[in-house]
Amino acid sequence: MSDRPWGGPAPTTLHRVSELPGGGTVRPITRWGEPVMHRVLRPVQTFDDELAALVADLVATMRAADGVGLAANQIGVDRAVFVFDCPDKDRVRHAGVVCNPRLVLPQGDDRTLDEGDEGCLSMPGAFVPCARTDHARVEGVDQTGVQVAYEGEGLVARCLQHETDHVFGTVFGDRVNAKQRKELRRQAAELADLFPPDWPVTPERALDDAG
Ligand SMILES: [Zn+2]
Repeated sequence: MSDRPWGGPAPTTLHRVSELPGGGTVRPITRWGEPVMHRVLRPVQTFDDELAALVADLVATMRAADGVGLAANQIGVDRAVFVFDCPDKDRVRHAGVVCNPRLVLPQGDDRTLDEGDEGCLSMPGAFVPCARTDHARVEGVDQTGVQVAYEGEGLVARCLQHETDHVFGTVFGDRVNAKQRKELRRQAAELADLFPPDWPVTPERALDDAG
């Protein structure tokens, strides 16, 4: 028995928490300035073991870095996919894998900006305010090729916009003014000793060890 007796394309199901694969390898996080961070990533077309391994590595690396989202170029891979595991404004967890993401943002009167701080694992330790819509929806497919959609408000809305930006070669430093960009560079330089070049393979150093 079908709930769509008239046929037509299946609606994209809205998900909140999808199981994230384990067993991945922690890989060094690519920093801003590397070319792969600043170009549109190649769409995922093959949903094979190589993609599954990439997604598992993204999850392992995101967790090791204590992040809420990570895109493939952040571990140096030119493929349009990101993972996220992030609370919303009510601290409800959202998590999933999105290949070939498309963002759907509120328009007109429904559009409210959140001016909260934003940071990026590819610019570790630096945070400045970045205006984002407070609600976001992303649609795409998971690592098996099944259509998925996620949406939410608060931090998860910021995260879905930030990670989709990465897939299109945009870092949040591209979305703030020159003064804030300078402030990002200042903070990152000040904290550079805390993050080894292969971080998070080598963990973050404690503030008093770094001198
Ligand atoms: Zn980022």
